[in-house]
Amino acid sequence: MKRPVIISGPCSAETEEQTIVTCKKLAETQKVNILRAGIWKPRTSPESFEGVGELGLIWLKAAKRITGLPTAVEVANAEHVHKALLHEVDYVWIGARTTVNPFSVKEIANALKGSQAKVLIKNPVNPDLSLWTGAIERIAHTRGIENIWLVHRGFSTCGYSEYRNVPLWHLIFDIKRQFPEIKMICDPSHICGNRKNLFKVSQTAADLNYDGLMIESHICPDAAWSDASQQITPDELNVLLDSLKWRNEYYENSIFEYSLSKFRSEIDQIDSDLFELFSRRMKLAEEIGRLKSTCNVSIYQEQRWRNIMERILSRAKRLDLSESFIRTILNTIHNESISRQNDVMNKP
Ligand code: PEP
Ligand code: MN
Repeated sequence: MKRPVIISGPCSAETEEQTIVTCKKLAETQKVNILRAGIWKPRTSPESFEGVGELGLIWLKAAKRITGLPTAVEVANAEHVHKALLHEVDYVWIGARTTVNPFSVKEIANALKGSQAKVLIKNPVNPDLSLWTGAIERIAHTRGIENIWLVHRGFSTCGYSEYRNVPLWHLIFDIKRQFPEIKMICDPSHICGNRKNLFKVSQTAADLNYDGLMIESHICPDAAWSDASQQITPDELNVLLDSLKWRNEYYENSIFEYSLSKFRSEIDQIDSDLFELFSRRMKLAEEIGRLKSTCNVSIYQEQRWRNIMERILSRAKRLDLSESFIRTILNTIHNESISRQNDVMNKP
């Protein structure tokens, strides 16, 4: 059975009592492996609570002594790293707002040189994976770094979403492909921004074979000085972790293997048919491009596009496909068709 790493603690260390009581209660669950607390908080507004600073490291060190659990804090510059190491912090994490800044990552990497620190790198705020891979490479090339883990905390996007930071799970598969040996931790707290979706997102992470979770916990969440709406009590965390189902990566059983391979070969056949059809569809789009070019007609025809969309969407229920899936696929096909017609029409 898989043993995921559970990292928990308050968004911010606020007072000695809040830090130590929260950490003690988390340790009592016997399900938490690492204690977290924000000491320096990267806040959007200068009016918001910006963390207690070095004082919090003293409280966290006391929590570590009392519980016997290792600790983790966020660092954003060399001074944070030096202070964290001085106070025997075991893991440092690079926050989403810092991962986007190569200068800061380089400064942190230099400060960590030779320290044998364990480093967690959160995904950058925006869905630009090259910033994440750049940060991973910078830290990985630092002498002495023992361990790097990644933290998926979702991505900021414009427009409405039920998430504070949308998960964009497919981007995580890309990163896992590039760095298969690095542990991937999910941070449902910053993905959700509320309590109600925490379980759902944590279960998805478990289903997708993540290596652990980072979940914010506070003895009195509603009174928290930062991220109040997403924190849960240690007791609630205990219940959440009890209800989660972690999946095995593999199951050695001939009936399972036979059924799986049957389904997979059917899927492979369907994929290959789909792409044959896409190829035929694009050839037809090029024919249309040639025809429009001869008759000097514009590529984009609003009414035609609306008809296609409406016709397929009206079949969504019968096809048992979600509207958003149909829209995404049709938009991708339409963009490719337009670009093929564009090529044909503007051939010198
Ligand atoms: C945090 O973990 O408290 C935090 C600020 O996270 P992020 O960098 O993901 O916003
Ligand atoms: Mn937080």
